[in-house]
Amino acid sequence: MIKKLLQRVFTSSKKPAPSNKAASPGKTARISAKVHGIDRKLISNAAIKTTEGLQKAGFEAFIVGGAVRDLLLKQRPKDFDVATNATPEQVNRIFRRSRIIGRRFRLVHVMFGDETIEVSTFRGSHLNETGDSKVADSGRILRDNVFGNQEEDAVRRDFTANALYYDPASEEVLDFHHGVADLQAGVLRMIGDPLTRYREDPVRMLRAVRLSAKLGLKIAPDTEKPISELADLLHDVPPSRLFDEMLKLFLSGHALESASALRQHGLHHGLLPLLDVVLEQPMGERFVKLALRNTDERVLADKPVSPGFLFATLLWHEVLLAWKKYEQQGNKPIPALHMAMDEVCDLQAEKMAIHKRFSATMREIWGLQPRFEIRAGRRPYSLLENPRYRAAYDFLLLRCESGELPAEIGQWWTEFANADGERRQAMLLPDTTPRKRKRRRSPKKPSPTSE
Ligand code: ATP
Ligand code: MG
Repeated sequence: MIKKLLQRVFTSSKKPAPSNKAASPGKTARISAKVHGIDRKLISNAAIKTTEGLQKAGFEAFIVGGAVRDLLLKQRPKDFDVATNATPEQVNRIFRRSRIIGRRFRLVHVMFGDETIEVSTFRGSHLNETGDSKVADSGRILRDNVFGNQEEDAVRRDFTANALYYDPASEEVLDFHHGVADLQAGVLRMIGDPLTRYREDPVRMLRAVRLSAKLGLKIAPDTEKPISELADLLHDVPPSRLFDEMLKLFLSGHALESASALRQHGLHHGLLPLLDVVLEQPMGERFVKLALRNTDERVLADKPVSPGFLFATLLWHEVLLAWKKYEQQGNKPIPALHMAMDEVCDLQAEKMAIHKRFSATMREIWGLQPRFEIRAGRRPYSLLENPRYRAAYDFLLLRCESGELPAEIGQWWTEFANADGERRQAMLLPDTTPRKRKRRRSPKKPSPTSE
């Protein structure tokens, strides 16, 4: 579809496609509105006000990066970044509602209503002698806080399609690396030597997979080839950064495709090592696929998605395995479940730290699962009142749909939640839970809610 759209944009012009007259490296191609066909209606007013404000003050300013790429693909960008030759202090002085963020490389957030535009000063190469930069022995850039000119700024971006600059005043796109031609051909291509660029920042491997799935672009062979070889480099990336990138990947609306591409390139070992195990079990694979497909459908329909729920699904079959192990070691079901949850979360945290606020939800969803098995007495009523009931119930339905649990349990809960008082009463199963005063007799099958 994207190809078709691009064809329409580029072939509608009588002029030759920009690829034919694009600059050789180092030279800038200036592509006019007639050729690139960007629809101004897709551009946020806040972004235009930001570039105008900077230009009025005598600076250069462009919409840059993913926003330009998306505009060329006729998609409405999620967020807009602006690049300028003004320093953060200068930007901050121009806009009343703005603040400088970041300690090392400082950016400016310019606020218009509830929209925030991120403004960054052109950055130079980490290889420059001047400025604040540091590179690890592996080649990974630890810090590159160097100002530079626009051309240098373009070189340090990742893909050619991400190194495009749009000036809303002239309506021209500045293209330093044949990005427009690559987009036109449906190709995602790394700027410079892919091997070096991945070593500098291994997260670029994840970005390649994510952007190619999200935008329907093919990763260029040279850009793709080193990925499997270098997958292990992800081990050195700070876990919180990996989490941010993975969250973007899973919420892109193309999670299923991205997850299988991650696996195909061996990238999941450093992120969700558990995914391998899970995907190897037919049941686990079914469960994860169902969950990801659900997530994609929700994202594409603009419905909210809970990352806690999503990660709960990705790790569930690992929890199940560990749960069984702890039970076999003689632990009661509920303590065993909690031991399993701790084990899976600890292991995961070593690779990719799931943000606390999401891991709390994840644990709540898991922790409520045994309670769905009790369909007698007062317990089902109190479960319905639990603030996490809805998420835990959706999770239960996935377990049923994947074949892990009999479909009948899910159906029972759907009906119970919707029934009136009398019907609910009639639905309850006979209460076989031992009464409290008989507690000293150790029950054959202890209640899973005993914690
Ligand atoms: P998305 O549409 O998902 O936001 P994006 O390409 O805009 O994709 P951002 O994280 O918003 O991703 O980054 C904005 C821009 O910054 C990119 O388009 C790219 O030019 C540059 N960039 C981001 N991450 C990297 C990186 N790891 N290495 C080099 N350049 C990067
Ligand atoms: Mg972006």
